[in-house]
Amino acid sequence: MKTMTLLTIATGALVVLSGTGASSPARLSVVTTTPDLAALAREIGGDAVEVRALAKPTEDPHYVDAKPSHIVTLNRADVLIEGGAELELGWLPPLLESARNDRIAAGAPGRIVASHGIRMLEVPATFDRSRGDVHALGNPHFLLDPLNVKIIAAQIANRFAQLDPASSQMFTANRREFEATLDLKLAEWQQQLEPHRAAKIVTYHKDFVYLAERFNLDVIETLEPKPGISPSPAHLAKVIATMKAANARVILVQPYQNRKTAETLARQTNAVVLDVAQQPGALTNTTTYFALMDYIVRTLATAFQEMK
Ligand SMILES: [Zn+2]
Repeated sequence: MKTMTLLTIATGALVVLSGTGASSPARLSVVTTTPDLAALAREIGGDAVEVRALAKPTEDPHYVDAKPSHIVTLNRADVLIEGGAELELGWLPPLLESARNDRIAAGAPGRIVASHGIRMLEVPATFDRSRGDVHALGNPHFLLDPLNVKIIAAQIANRFAQLDPASSQMFTANRREFEATLDLKLAEWQQQLEPHRAAKIVTYHKDFVYLAERFNLDVIETLEPKPGISPSPAHLAKVIATMKAANARVILVQPYQNRKTAETLARQTNAVVLDVAQQPGALTNTTTYFALMDYIVRTLATAFQEMK
């Protein structure tokens, strides 16, 4: 309790010093399912929020290790931000049930679903989860498109303002600054990848589809035969054939994916394996969304350049 009081005082002092207006009685306790959403919440919320992500940056967002501490965190939260579109279907519902917190119940002001307002890609014509497909409502990895991030940032700013009206001006200011930086960075990233238009990439999971669409890259295969299904020898043989035929020589893996399988494929196709991530903080010096995207774009552009 003492720490909380001190933090509140410190925040109040900071707000007064920077002259942005009255301080809130307490900071909003914001919980997000994944670190990318936490990074956004921090950009928008600034000193008026305290943000914590349930998943580690190196954890697969579809399969997060549920811990008792997660229940405590959710029980105390004023706000929960989830990706939605079934990204967290495998682990979040039982945690929420145990947390018994009406403030973040479905439909409550404290519950933010990032997928609302996003134009989803790869929405299946028929709803089918039976074969283990974890993307039954479409592809939930939409934060790798910076324009989607803009939509989510606006949604977060509006909801924070509703929950903490005294800080609403600051949320708006933070959002405007974030958007301005995003616009500048997006132009930079597009410029870096423009010479590599239609470059072919292979990914482990269908996690870079939105990035590929925004920057005109071509995901020609995935090591998983279906999202959430481990690669089989028969499927990998097909991937190798496709890669050779298309001369695709870049394979992307995330920290929690099987790099060895990717390396085996790379040896047989004269390809390179690139370590990338969807989550800020998963790789060194990628704590913010901008740092992460800088890293991904630079890594891709360098690899494509070396292959020319
Ligand atoms: Zn997925």
